Amino acid sequence: MNVVELITRKRDGGRLTAQEIQELIVAYTADEIPDYQMSAFAMAVVFSGMDNEELASLTDAMLNSGDRLDLGWLDAPKIDKHSTGGVGDKASLPLAPLVAACGVAVPMMSGRGLGHTGGTLDKLESIPGMSVRLDPKEFYRVLERNGMVMAGQSETLVPADRRLYALRDSSGTVASIPLIASSIMSKKLAEDIDGLVLDVKVGGGATMRRDEDAWQLAKAMIDIGQAHDTPVRALLTDMSQPLGREVGNSNEIAESVAVLKGEGPPDVTEVTMLLGVEMLLLAGTATTPDDARRQLEAAVSSGSGMEVFAAVVADQGGDPAALYDTSLLPSAPNTHVVEAKESGVVTTCDAGLIGVAGVRLGGGRLAKEDEIDPGVGITVDAKVGEAVDAGDPLCTVVWRDEARLASALEMLGGAWEFGDEATIPPLLHYRVS
Ligand code: URA
Repeated sequence: MNVVELITRKRDGGRLTAQEIQELIVAYTADEIPDYQMSAFAMAVVFSGMDNEELASLTDAMLNSGDRLDLGWLDAPKIDKHSTGGVGDKASLPLAPLVAACGVAVPMMSGRGLGHTGGTLDKLESIPGMSVRLDPKEFYRVLERNGMVMAGQSETLVPADRRLYALRDSSGTVASIPLIASSIMSKKLAEDIDGLVLDVKVGGGATMRRDEDAWQLAKAMIDIGQAHDTPVRALLTDMSQPLGREVGNSNEIAESVAVLKGEGPPDVTEVTMLLGVEMLLLAGTATTPDDARRQLEAAVSSGSGMEVFAAVVADQGGDPAALYDTSLLPSAPNTHVVEAKESGVVTTCDAGLIGVAGVRLGGGRLAKEDEIDPGVGITVDAKVGEAVDAGDPLCTVVWRDEARLASALEMLGGAWEFGDEATIPPLLHYRVS
């Protein structure tokens, strides 16, 4: 295989055969292709795209790059959820335990932060002791005991995505329909699930800024699911402003716990419920959306969702006490308040800029090897539609390093706009099935 020829052909808008894509992925996974060539290939795909056949081949090649789970031994229906990535997008964290508490198995293989968007695994790792690196045996054990598990791909499960995902994060190659669709669907199909619910984020803080693109991405993943006999539903949900109030890692765990206790912000709670309803319907354990919502609300009010989460954290080596007393979660020592320079109603609270600020603070990665600082973060004090006076807080930054704070503030300075009135974006843009 001539890798340079494949890269230049894709760069110039040509197409690759299934065999070429398969060989490329096998060679990359075996360390026979250096990261610089693979990132050039990924960039060529960002610009030139892939047709449906190429996308199917890429997904299959990634899916076949490692082992698959075998969950045939589980009696419960197995449904997972995945998000295309957002800012403050912590819905997976309360969602999985609530759905598991309703009797649906959730074998969740999540991702790390990607670009300016946060990652479930990074957030989970802010819980002291928590491990998200489970081998298949441990993965099965946690799932069997609790009806859910949250982990990353191990060395043996979808290794091609594990490597490519980290590479894309640090090479500006995240925003591409074929790269996102193949990344998500290869991971999810390797889980041996009965169905999948996708949260496709739309807006300035998402990889898809327009409804049309988010729709195309949703359709691409639904089609891949169909080709593999796995039903997929997608909700296109708003990401023009951060979801909830917290952006970071440990602070997002604290906000997720609040959702599990019925004390979370209305938007995160509602997105969690909307996704949960789809999961219970797909599982067949609820007959109507109202029935599904009632079950999920009961899992909140009875505390059973919180109990599942605490048990999973304990089983994965984490300290569940940090969920009940979130002051035990890591926190950087300093705070800085960004104040409104004028009075008015917030018309923009830019999720993209706030997400980049979070990465600059140290809550995300600029290079593949970067360590995450779990204790830094941003609390959004003013969201779209809220009235502020000059001097009121727009956000509170928890920071550790002065240079990083200065760099984050460059982004935050332009993240808010004001007017006389604001249109609050709907949380749910579309449902695609
Ligand atoms: N989530 C993934 O797993 N992969 C992507 O490319 C984007 C979001």
